[in-house]
Amino acid sequence: MSLQPVGQFPSYRLRRLRQSVVVRRMVRETQLSANSLVLPLFVRGGRKLRRAIEAMPGVFQLSPDEMLTEATRAFEAGVSAILLFGIPDRKDTKASGAYAPKGVVQEAVRLLKKELPDMLVITDVCLCEYMEHGHCGIVHRDKKGANILNDPTLKLLARTAASHVEAGADMVAPSDMMDGRVRSIRQELDRLGFDQTPIMSYAAKFASAYYGPFREAAESAPRFGDRRSYQMDAGNAREALREVALDIQEGADIVMVKPALAYLDILYRVKTEFGYPTAAYAVSAEYSMIKAAGEKGWIDERAVMLETLLAMRRAGADILITYAAVEVAKWLVDGR
Ligand SMILES: [Zn+2]
Repeated sequence: MSLQPVGQFPSYRLRRLRQSVVVRRMVRETQLSANSLVLPLFVRGGRKLRRAIEAMPGVFQLSPDEMLTEATRAFEAGVSAILLFGIPDRKDTKASGAYAPKGVVQEAVRLLKKELPDMLVITDVCLCEYMEHGHCGIVHRDKKGANILNDPTLKLLARTAASHVEAGADMVAPSDMMDGRVRSIRQELDRLGFDQTPIMSYAAKFASAYYGPFREAAESAPRFGDRRSYQMDAGNAREALREVALDIQEGADIVMVKPALAYLDILYRVKTEFGYPTAAYAVSAEYSMIKAAGEKGWIDERAVMLETLLAMRRAGADILITYAAVEVAKWLVDGR
């Protein structure tokens, strides 16, 4: 990129447009808006249940009734999309809870679409919460150790996505990082007549230490090994572009980069390279770090949260998935 001709000092002074709040706002290149926000919610069986996630202040595992209360509160604050994760009562080695017609997510989707039809309901599609071992795919063990099988997992993922959409989900978001999952899901949705249901793929999802607090929230920590054989290595940017390219070829409508804050360069490159609708997932530790420092009085929590999310927008994100969505929406109404 070559620089356009710019004025020269002293006839040109950049500070001129920084003198008043009105002018500063007028020439601001990137805006935060509640339209971008998606709130993740964790739903589990039961009634009147709000189980606090210790490392994520303000985030809970919710029974369906409480989830509906939380979703309604979000909607009223101006957040019009949620991303649903389910925590099943039982786990097994086939993740049957993931695609059970009356599974925890499927029932939650039905409830939401009945009571809050204008809320956009996106479902996380993965198997880890439903697997005894906590991995995102089918595990095969032999003498050499455990292997996460790619192709046999695809069928289960497609089945899971289809069951969410059958229950009424508006959009599905596969987060497993198996190769070829977007194609499998697209084909299955099309086969069932859901050719208008978009897929938001976790296209560049890195094996990250920033997921720590989430694993408590979703109870999905792997019992053995780690996710490095399917999630991306933190050092790889060009490979992230290949992941995104592949997902687009397979039918992804929106591509996601996860985590967000430590991967702004990836966001920028993905947006610049492909120009596709792009989502940033500000993951649990990104939220927890700001919350913790805010509670200690070490930072201005509100200002840091807004600046951080603005940085993701500036880097190229159209969609911001954040645990702070409701607070942020309220702050934006206050207009600071
Ligand atoms: Zn998973």
